[in-house]
Amino acid sequence: MKEILTILSEECAEVIQCSAKLQRFGVNDERNQKKLESEVGDVMAMILILHYYGVVSDVGIKKQIKRKLRKLKRFSEIECIDEVLKEL
Ligand SMILES: [Mg+2]
Repeated sequence: MKEILTILSEECAEVIQCSAKLQRFGVNDERNQKKLESEVGDVMAMILILHYYGVVSDVGIKKQIKRKLRKLKRFSEIECIDEVLKEL
């Protein structure tokens, strides 16, 4: 389990790095978009492994996704929240 959590941490750090690059070089930079997509996929792979071992659950994750989206609707200027909520 230690190895899984270590890799999860590494992959989350790589997502942070990609996000920073997109902020620095522009969100339309295709190379950095692809890199972000790749690193988000890496994080999701680690989440699937955690799910397999019962460390995280579908129900718990979905509940938190909704909670976070509702919070963003109240406290951010992101405009697509209702549409994203509808897709759940
Ligand atoms: Mg990676």
